[in-house]
Amino acid sequence: MTDLAVGIDLGTTFSVIAHLDSMGRPWTIPNTEGDLLTPSVVFFDGSTIVVGKEALKAAIAAPEEIAQFVKRDMGCQVYQKAIHGQHLPPEVIQSYILAKLRRDATRKLGEFHKVVVTVPAFFNEPRRKATQDAGALAGLEVIDIINEPTAAAISYGIQKGFLSPKGESRDKERLLVYDLGGGTFDATLMEIDGTHYNAIATAGDIYLGGIDWDQRIADYLAEAFMKKNRGIDPRENPAGLQRLLREAEDAKRTLSARDQATVTFEHGGDVVRVPITRQQFEEMTVDLLDRTRFTVVNLLEGAKLQWSDVSRLLLVGGSSRMPMVQRMVEKLSGRTPDCSLSADEAVAHGAAVYAGLVLSSAAGAAPKVSVRNVNSHNLGVLGEDRKTGRRRNRVMIPRNTTLPAKHTARFVTAHANQPSVVVKVVEGGDASGNDATKIGKCIVRDLPAGLPAGSRVEVTFRYGQDGRLTVKARLPGSGKEAVSAIERSSGMTAETLRSWNQRLQKAQGPLSLS
Ligand code: AMP
Repeated sequence: MTDLAVGIDLGTTFSVIAHLDSMGRPWTIPNTEGDLLTPSVVFFDGSTIVVGKEALKAAIAAPEEIAQFVKRDMGCQVYQKAIHGQHLPPEVIQSYILAKLRRDATRKLGEFHKVVVTVPAFFNEPRRKATQDAGALAGLEVIDIINEPTAAAISYGIQKGFLSPKGESRDKERLLVYDLGGGTFDATLMEIDGTHYNAIATAGDIYLGGIDWDQRIADYLAEAFMKKNRGIDPRENPAGLQRLLREAEDAKRTLSARDQATVTFEHGGDVVRVPITRQQFEEMTVDLLDRTRFTVVNLLEGAKLQWSDVSRLLLVGGSSRMPMVQRMVEKLSGRTPDCSLSADEAVAHGAAVYAGLVLSSAAGAAPKVSVRNVNSHNLGVLGEDRKTGRRRNRVMIPRNTTLPAKHTARFVTAHANQPSVVVKVVEGGDASGNDATKIGKCIVRDLPAGLPAGSRVEVTFRYGQDGRLTVKARLPGSGKEAVSAIERSSGMTAETLRSWNQRLQKAQGPLSLS
């Protein structure tokens, strides 16, 4: 049996699954409800788990039993909200969404296991690992993860005919991909031609997306409601908040098409009718839009490029449909943005094409295209400054380094007969390590007995093409490899992953998927 090429865009608000047909063309696979987009929402309905549109419908009636926007918590130990009194790991909740996508797609494609899953370019290493682990929990083999803007660029390449049998276009383009989705914002500079998809630099904000725009409208509606109804705040009631957010998202979409929307909002028997103009909406969200603008400006400055160096500005992500986005980027860049890609499907399509390439290279075919990523955060180790005694973040692999990348750091043992060396590894943060994400401790253990103080230990940190980190240690004096591993600060250990896997496979009690 030949492997099917399947790509999944696991989004904050919506997820999409696509596959390649026998001609190598990507197609979105509709879910059992007949929709191309599956809401990334999970409803824990007693002993049954419901995912997607039906879960979203239940959000108002049973808000406490709903998990949504879980992508924002990937890399954390648990999802922020307790469900049935239990704090679940975000990987587990995401695995339900992946399992639903897989199950629905199986009806069309037959059994498949191998997939490529997309992640925001700005996702740090723990969030990448969590995404792979969620795939494993859903019974999938994640053959690779690919950055969302890279997947979008591949879709763009297909549209240009780069990857079709006849498509021999070799024009070099420097793209700026502006990707504003439901929960995350990414801006990535890429150089592409017929066969190369190279990221040059990336920047972003994983706490900025369409749901923040929704929230502003929801606040506006809530205030209008409070003014009319004795100060009663519908946001204080979980069902009221869900309904506000639902109405807000609806109004936001209307305001992409029209100058005005009118929301009728009912809560506790009281009703308000609130008109909102596009101009009002743009004024109440100007700071959010500005954050994307700053990110784009910083990205270009960091890469030492001007707008004249960018040949195309590619808009992707559902939220890029907002007219304010298109106007802002046009004003900023002096060029008309390219909105020709399907904002919802482009990322999943690019992932499916990439899955096809990974599978055919694994089968021994000459690679048709090459993809190069950069790391989105500095990789550093925390240590002490010998002179000042203060904490210091020693950057080993600076952000925007082409991957794969490695760095060998040298350490010395402090005492004679020291059994192990422990190094704290972080991503991002400032020179003192403030605001850094703790990856964990790199532990070099079982050092040979009798090592004198001051013995050298070399640790090589390596980012793979997918932004995942591995370590290897060596004792240069002896030429021997040392036993080393990363003890992670967050996320699933191999042990917890195994035990959740067993629990999910048994699918007993509250864990059965309807
Ligand atoms: P994505 O993660 O790319 O699927 O984007 C989902 C986000 O796009 C959600 O926040 C949607 O509310 C938003 N979105 C989709 N269509 C529109 C539209 N026509 N106008 C404004 N936002 C939209």
